[in-house]
Amino acid sequence: MIPKLYIVVPCYNEEEVLPITCEMFLKKLLSLISNKKISDKSKILFIDDGSKDKTWQIITELSKKDPHYAGIAQSRNRGHQAAVLAGLMEAKDKCDITVSIDCDGQDDINAIDEMIEKYSNGAEIVYGVRSSRKKDSFFKRSTAEGFYKVMNKLGTEVVFNHADYRLVSCRVLNEFADFKEVNLFLRGMFPLVGFKSDIVYYERFERVAGKTHYPLKKMLGLAWDGITSLSVKPLHLIIGLGLFVAFLSFIAVIWSVTMQLLGKTVAGWASIISIISFIGGIQLISIGIIGEYIGKIYMEVKHRPRYIISDRTENLKEKQAPKKK
Ligand code: UDP
Ligand code: MG
Repeated sequence: MIPKLYIVVPCYNEEEVLPITCEMFLKKLLSLISNKKISDKSKILFIDDGSKDKTWQIITELSKKDPHYAGIAQSRNRGHQAAVLAGLMEAKDKCDITVSIDCDGQDDINAIDEMIEKYSNGAEIVYGVRSSRKKDSFFKRSTAEGFYKVMNKLGTEVVFNHADYRLVSCRVLNEFADFKEVNLFLRGMFPLVGFKSDIVYYERFERVAGKTHYPLKKMLGLAWDGITSLSVKPLHLIIGLGLFVAFLSFIAVIWSVTMQLLGKTVAGWASIISIISFIGGIQLISIGIIGEYIGKIYMEVKHRPRYIISDRTENLKEKQAPKKK
């Protein structure tokens, strides 16, 4: 059976980029359709993540021009992860497979062919992995690669150098819909769903236009979210640290008592101050880490919706059943 594909594309203030990359996506979709790799009912699904510029207007115009374009709008900006999630959840009952990809042309769109190939060979999730990061600055490359290593050390199963360019079958998405957390870190959550997976290497290019919406602060936020959403290792580390410091303090007590007994008491305020501040520092860090988890629990127990769709392009609106008289 030829699968129906939805390409899920999050967009936030991308009026400069969309008019260029939309053609690229359509060309790819049409070539896959004509090669009988995907059904003609396949679509490019844009998610407008509460943009303040003309992004939604561009999306609605595109959907009127060609039925292969469709779009949904979020009621406000919720961030990249929520936008991708909204798109995947919209797509899951309408198609057989999805590919999520950034809208700025950075991810090599030709990798989709290979992803579909791997899907037809049985993989339900195909992770796009960056073959090189030559185009990234030294700082971005080393911090990003360091992050994947730390994540794996902390016991999470993040695929090395995989971001959010991936093929996911709707069978997997239906199971994934039961992962209800509001703290989203999609690349770490999909490996938890299981099913057969594979990887495809692709090249990462420069943005075709516009500028990044992921400044360092947001990147660090995402990394921290990833760690605390997927791993409780930092809490275990605190216990280890606590035991270690307690051991040191115990030795310090024996030392001071011995010195006292030997009558060699020193003026000693420097050592006292340093021990107190050291322990104080460790305690504050530990409370802070515990606080981060409590904060997450607080957000989770509210069960707030993770995305709210405020609008859809005409071709996505459900046909209303005629009213009974
Ligand atoms: N994006 C989004 N909501 C946001 C920020 C970004 O939907 O709040 C989208 C953006 O339009 C793009 C993708 O997420 O398609 C990746 O963002 P960007 O290219 O700015 O990040 P970078 O590639 O520089 O890490
Ligand atoms: Mg980008």
